[in-house]
Amino acid sequence: MRIDVVSIFPAYLEPLGMSLIGKASRQGLLDVRVHDLRDFTHDRHRTVDDTPYGGGAGMVMRPEPWGEALDALCDDGDVPHLIVPGPGGALFTQAMAAELARKPRLAFACGRYEGIDERVIDEARSHLPVSVVSLGDYVLNGGEVAALAMIEAIVRLIPGVIGNAASLEEESHTGGLLEYPIYTKPRQWRGREVPSVLLSGDHGAIEHWRREQRHDRTERTRPDLLRMTADPEAAASTDNPRFRAAVQRDAGEIWTMARACWVTEARDHDSFEIPALTESLLDVQEWLTAWHTWVVRSHGRLIGSVRARRTHDLWDIGRLMVAPDLQGRGLGKALLAYAEQQAPVEVAGFSMFTGGHSVDNLRMYRRAGYEICGRSTYAGIPTVELYKPRS
Ligand code: SAM
Repeated sequence: MRIDVVSIFPAYLEPLGMSLIGKASRQGLLDVRVHDLRDFTHDRHRTVDDTPYGGGAGMVMRPEPWGEALDALCDDGDVPHLIVPGPGGALFTQAMAAELARKPRLAFACGRYEGIDERVIDEARSHLPVSVVSLGDYVLNGGEVAALAMIEAIVRLIPGVIGNAASLEEESHTGGLLEYPIYTKPRQWRGREVPSVLLSGDHGAIEHWRREQRHDRTERTRPDLLRMTADPEAAASTDNPRFRAAVQRDAGEIWTMARACWVTEARDHDSFEIPALTESLLDVQEWLTAWHTWVVRSHGRLIGSVRARRTHDLWDIGRLMVAPDLQGRGLGKALLAYAEQQAPVEVAGFSMFTGGHSVDNLRMYRRAGYEICGRSTYAGIPTVELYKPRS
């Protein structure tokens, strides 16, 4: 990737030669070029600013040096994606960093004073992709610190820049959640112990604990992130639903949604003696500790859930549910596929059961590769057992 940065303070960008970014440049993964905007001025004072039309405080960056500087960046015909740091721009996020990390060329136009004459951005937009990007809801003195922060977040996602790529996978903001708490030696420090689960050697339990911690921490400190899922339509499609491990706090909604989902089963079987309808909130709270359960939310609302656990060499999947108003859009299928993917390697196949008269469910399970392997009754209701070998 090539990155050009234009600034009136090129020395501000010197940290780009240090640490992992400097190393990436030396390894040839990155080509960083910093340009002094004043090199594109033609007067004795190398002037880059002037008073604002219409009056007001402060100075505005003149368009001519910026025009020449941006022309020079494109003179080989290979245009960069131009990022103009500014507090009025789109908020810089991890998702944006990931998208920009895939571009072959980026350029940063670092403003100072009150900012850059708007025509520079309009003109650039006529021949370049341009994004005005804000680091956050506060005002810095110039774009250099914002450019440094963005470049660091982008460059570390370029393959090869971070030695251990796996370390990127569970970081804060990956999958919309914050990172779980981390610990190292010593095991006890100033009377504080490392959580015992991390010393247990039980990888499943550690993974479960970390998932819960990520969710708890996000809910506690950044609940806005949990509500940042797409709208119900988008979240309910198979395109990109975000599944996460359920926590105790989800129990009430799981219990409530089960009632809304299984009431049609009750009608089809002419009985309310269905486990999902007869269990109490306490039952749900209890099985949440015994089963792996995943949920999907949209705008904070629970819209789907599924649970699974290992029974001998089978991965038992159940309580697959999607909010009634969002059924038929593929979310159930996506939840089922997700639950299957979470099965431990030792498992030979997947098992489920459903009501004998649940025609729609049976159709969906058949389409997902399940075959009926047994029939019985539960509280007088016909049930079918389904099996799918692991492929
Ligand atoms: N007058 C501008 C306004 O109110 O929106 C603020 C200009 S600021 C003092 C000068 C420069 O700092 C901006 O042109 C931009 O390059 C940079 N800057 C300030 N805050 C920023 C932020 N939150 N994110 C990105 N860049 C910022």
